[in-house]
Amino acid sequence: MARVFNFCAGPAALPTEVLQQAQAELVDWRGKGLSIMEMSHRSDEFVAVAEEAEKDFRDLLSISDDYAVLFLQGGATGQFSAVPLNLLGNAASADYINTGIWSKKAIAEAKRYTSVNVAASTESENFMRVPTQAELRLTGDAAYVHYTPNETIGGLEFQWIPEVGDKPLVADMSSSILSRPLDVSRFGVIYAGAQKNIGPAGICIAIVRKDLLDRERPETPVSMSYKVAASNGSMYNTPPTYAWYLSGLVFKWLKAQGGLEAMGEVNKRKAAQLYAAIDGSDFYNNPIALDSRSLMNIPFTLADDRLNDRFLAEAEEAGLLNLQGHRSVGGMRASIYNAVPESAVKALTSFMAEFEKRHA
Ligand SMILES: *Cc1c(COP(=O)(O)O)cnc(C)c1O
Repeated sequence: MARVFNFCAGPAALPTEVLQQAQAELVDWRGKGLSIMEMSHRSDEFVAVAEEAEKDFRDLLSISDDYAVLFLQGGATGQFSAVPLNLLGNAASADYINTGIWSKKAIAEAKRYTSVNVAASTESENFMRVPTQAELRLTGDAAYVHYTPNETIGGLEFQWIPEVGDKPLVADMSSSILSRPLDVSRFGVIYAGAQKNIGPAGICIAIVRKDLLDRERPETPVSMSYKVAASNGSMYNTPPTYAWYLSGLVFKWLKAQGGLEAMGEVNKRKAAQLYAAIDGSDFYNNPIALDSRSLMNIPFTLADDRLNDRFLAEAEEAGLLNLQGHRSVGGMRASIYNAVPESAVKALTSFMAEFEKRHA
């Protein structure tokens, strides 16, 4: 079996052990004579799988009973609409922090429903850093404060949680959830599309503080309602059962790795190794301020961008895939989520040093 090192930003690498287990039980799930994806979502078997996935997810993040965990569809993009619809109540505005492309998309969608106050933005500095707490201009009548802890495309990440008083703090954690321990109690809502650090595309998880479940606007589509999802075990309609099952396998895998403390240590080592390789050379560059650098998505450019295609082609030959930067940014980007092992980062940094020697 030849598995490459996959640095894709999303859908991203999954643990090989998880794929092997899914393969082993694909056709005949645990002796039942059919696949888990052929079963009713209301069968005892699937409900048990779903509940166990939720329990493992709660264990990993130490989520208290004050929060509902919802398994939804529509991706993180669906949540850009679901958040205002579910949380605005009678309020006429919401605060948003703007740190890059995903923040901007969330803001654009929220504007369809409410007036948006941009509480801080580093756009004039080309999103090379996240703002400081002192820069936040929160407004009194905002229903909530939204931010993007990790900007997947720009490669910048908050190393701290904004202090927002008694407003619910809402976070799009699509590309950073489960990458290290997290104090969920600081948040009103956390949401994340699965295809970066949870499982396959097609499912999205929202962690919603239960006291926020009564704020939805009357026009909220039933398929987007947190309240409806919470009171129906995320099964008001058919959930993406196979993606839910696979996410559950990933949660078991994470527990077997030692949970989020252990993952956080590995992720810190991986990022430190790659940033050291970039910073230690004049041939590679990462422009993000040191205190705002992402642990998960690391963009870098070559001193001579005419070498980009060559870099990508030779990397692919070396078994290092999907290093092309986002189309809006160019250059390279290595996404090093939980399922990307330390050996992948080691192989990448060795390749980078060797490529530099040949081409500098
Ligand atoms: C990938 C991503 C999204 C979009 O997710 P979809 O599931 O494709 O809608 C939104 N926000 C962040 C931070 C992301 O990384």
